Amino acid sequence: MSASKAGIKAKSYRPETHLVHTGTLRSQFGETSEAIFLTQGYVYDSALTAERRFTNEEPGYQYSRFSNPTVTMFEERMCALEGAEAARATATGMAAVNTALMGQVRAGDHVVASKQLFGSCRYIVEDHLPRYGVASTLVNGTNLDEWKNAVRKNTKTFFLESPTNPNLEVLDIAAIAKIAHDAGATLVVDNVFSTPLYQRPLELGADCVVYSATKHIDGQGRCLGGVVLGSQEFITNNVHQLIRQTGPSLSPFNAWVLLKGLETLFVRVQRQTDNAALVAVALAEHPKVTRSIYPGRPDHPQADIISRQMKGGSNLVAFEIKGGKAAAFRFQDALKLVKISNNLGDAKSLITHPATTTHQRLTPAARAELGITDGMVRLSCGLEHPDDLIDDLLTALATA
Ligand SMILES: *Cc1c(COP(=O)(O)O)cnc(C)c1O
Repeated sequence: MSASKAGIKAKSYRPETHLVHTGTLRSQFGETSEAIFLTQGYVYDSALTAERRFTNEEPGYQYSRFSNPTVTMFEERMCALEGAEAARATATGMAAVNTALMGQVRAGDHVVASKQLFGSCRYIVEDHLPRYGVASTLVNGTNLDEWKNAVRKNTKTFFLESPTNPNLEVLDIAAIAKIAHDAGATLVVDNVFSTPLYQRPLELGADCVVYSATKHIDGQGRCLGGVVLGSQEFITNNVHQLIRQTGPSLSPFNAWVLLKGLETLFVRVQRQTDNAALVAVALAEHPKVTRSIYPGRPDHPQADIISRQMKGGSNLVAFEIKGGKAAAFRFQDALKLVKISNNLGDAKSLITHPATTTHQRLTPAARAELGITDGMVRLSCGLEHPDDLIDDLLTALATA
């Protein structure tokens, strides 16, 4: 079996088709469904073959920390979906983010990131990188001047997510990529919230895209996983050796679950997005909702950027309930169908109160700066019937 037969060469297919077929490596048994190669290592026909595998004179697998056929299938399918030349899968989304950033920097370098970041991503930039002599500056990602002004001679990379967690602000990826490149830096985009179906950062100028595959790609609450994508050069220079030698590798079993998740990604995300759009309409005019944000609505603060860079609004809706924390808690506790959970992208609708969960580590001032108020909740719409979902939300709002 070759590690790169299908995939990125089959560019003419549309995403739905890639999601079902691309990257499949069939064994001699001709199985329909992708096989799980649950193996740590590989045996060689001869000592010479072993030697040639290690010198890369002969293609093939050596050890599953480096690569594994089931993991390869997942990577190839993600490459095709993203329009990337190369990808490496990781054990979690955070391993993907950490690898993409740590792989590029050396002591003495500088990183600029949007302060609107998923909690652990912000930890890496603010606390982790500086321990190794890598300075970082956090900027308000929606303000292009702040990105420009943060640049230093030693700035190596920019990092952002868009739409942002949890407030669903949208950052101008093309404009920020240009600022990065003018400064001789790269841009890494965490594309979890929009999914590869609605936003293609590489086409907008990003050098690297990372995912937590734990979210929509699994989509059914089972496995953690992540993936780093970029040009062959970017992955070879920054990512490949770090994963191979330090070991945040994806397990073949989890790769298989994620691969099967990809088969249904399009239909799931489309349905979840339709649900989110209907929920956003139901919440927009509700007297107990003081603010609601959905990237698919014309009243979104960055609607013009969204129309340029996104093909869909995502399955997430953020909204603020009148009455602060107490009302937000009453509302969550009154929900029957929607589950209280800090995860997202699941088949089940999930709600979280960022101020007391995902963003509780931040000071009240830092939360205020990000617009994370005590009444704010973030809803990840699932696959339920939209009328049942909206009924549940409206009933709970009545008691809030
Ligand atoms: C969940 C998430 C991560 C981290 O992924 P894990 O798989 O939980 O490690 C990173 N970024 C964003 C935007 C996320 O939503």
